[in-house]
Amino acid sequence: DKLKAGLEKTRKSFTEKIEQLVIGYATIDDEFLDDLEAVLLSADVGVSTTAKLMTEIRSGIKSKEINYPEDLKPFLQAKISVMLLREPQVEQDIHEPPVVMLIVGVNGVGKTTTIGKLASYYHEAGKKVLIAAGDTFRAAAIDQLEIWGQRTNTEVIKHAEGSDPAAVAFDAVQAAKARRADIVIIDTAGRLHTKSNLMEELKKINRVIAKEIPDAPHETLLVLDATTGQNAINQAKLFGDAVKLSGVVLTKLDGTAKGGVVIAIKNELNLPVKWVGVGEGVNDLRPFDPAEFAAALFA
Ligand code: GDP
Repeated sequence: DKLKAGLEKTRKSFTEKIEQLVIGYATIDDEFLDDLEAVLLSADVGVSTTAKLMTEIRSGIKSKEINYPEDLKPFLQAKISVMLLREPQVEQDIHEPPVVMLIVGVNGVGKTTTIGKLASYYHEAGKKVLIAAGDTFRAAAIDQLEIWGQRTNTEVIKHAEGSDPAAVAFDAVQAAKARRADIVIIDTAGRLHTKSNLMEELKKINRVIAKEIPDAPHETLLVLDATTGQNAINQAKLFGDAVKLSGVVLTKLDGTAKGGVVIAIKNELNLPVKWVGVGEGVNDLRPFDPAEFAAALFA
């Protein structure tokens, strides 16, 4: 399927290297463990996550759960599944409609595309969706959202280029209430070169939304590009300082060997990956399933 195909490159860099390692060694020794550590690091699992996994492996060897190199793959798959599963995912449906979703992330990560895909996903699930074109900094972003809106039969709330994004968010939430929408998806700007302004802007959007609906935004999803590997972690820290993130959408998993970053995001930032992008098409966004992911990684 598409997730498995999307993880092909990551699997190549990860599982196949582990398999080669297993074939190359008859017993587990220090050299084997050093090589294994290098494989984990090269798959963008991240330094601290790799350290944690290595500790687990060493105790697995001590407790005789791992006796031979070939015991490693099932051991790792189990540990990674547990690592990803540690926190239960928050359900959309526990909130009174309209559910307010704020989408943040730097330009180019696939934010606009993700909003289009989300709108389509919820539309097909029978929900009434509104999109708010909150990236008023880029005229192209507004136009792009309009195209996605037409494609997915979703109304797009927009103001003129350069207008106040918080005003767009306010209008969108008001419209969602008035029209009894189930979900309102709010785009935001992603220009990092003036980052302090951007972070202030995001805080203001949050304040305006919370004034309308006290427990909103119910979701603040950070869109990250999997092909940027560890850079994605840095972006998450930056946005996490400004807004309360509820999860991550990891895009472009189809084009990269750096899918291990999923594990780093969960382990280092304690942010659940909620969706993964596995292509440019409208249906190429999948709810993230940790067990399915771990299985596809080790398939
Ligand atoms: P934005 O600047 O963050 O709004 O980024 P866009 O939504 O315009 O996306 C930038 C590029 O990435 C576009 O060419 C998208 O088609 C592409 N893209 C977005 N998500 C995915 C994905 O999951 N897989 C692939 N292969 N391409 C994607």
